[in-house]
Amino acid sequence: MPFTLPPLPFADDALSPVISANTIGFHYGKHHKAYVDNLNKLSDGTEFAALSLGEVIRKTAGQADKAGLFNNAAQAWNHAFFWESLSPKGGKPSGKIADLIERDFGSYDKFKADFGAAAVTQFGSGWAWLVAEQGKLSVRKTGNAETPISGSAVPLLTIDVWEHAYYLDYQNRRADYVAAVIDKLLNWDRANERLG
Ligand code: MN
Repeated sequence: MPFTLPPLPFADDALSPVISANTIGFHYGKHHKAYVDNLNKLSDGTEFAALSLGEVIRKTAGQADKAGLFNNAAQAWNHAFFWESLSPKGGKPSGKIADLIERDFGSYDKFKADFGAAAVTQFGSGWAWLVAEQGKLSVRKTGNAETPISGSAVPLLTIDVWEHAYYLDYQNRRADYVAAVIDKLLNWDRANERLG
């Protein structure tokens, strides 16, 4: 099978209590795995089986007859990116990303408010993103499987706001999940690496 489930970059219980091992077990072991498995089934015997995940996403984006491939490829990519956006050593940003946050949002607190608002106000399933576009940081949100990599922005961090990401731990309290992830789990070292 050409598409594989990448290993989690931390132990199942490493993000607890913000995200429990139980949630990680379902989210990574069932949901993320299902996207990869479905993508393998849908691409089997087609030209898409020989492509990278990013190539499948860009070649199927916006095409109604390729929605199944796009949704599963984009969700496989978004989830791998999400795990890499989290770290048990999260907290305040440092280095270049901290300077850019000051420059482009005015303050870390304003960034937290904007990122949190994007995550909380995404209606239904989707994602909140910190992206760099032409060197400038901004926050955006996408619905369902939509992902910035089908456009020109460079994603730096994401938060999954599908209900499966928080319902076992927070039930309907998406805002509490989002605030805890932003305060405690964002992987700023990875964001700095992605800035290049
Ligand atoms: Mn998810």
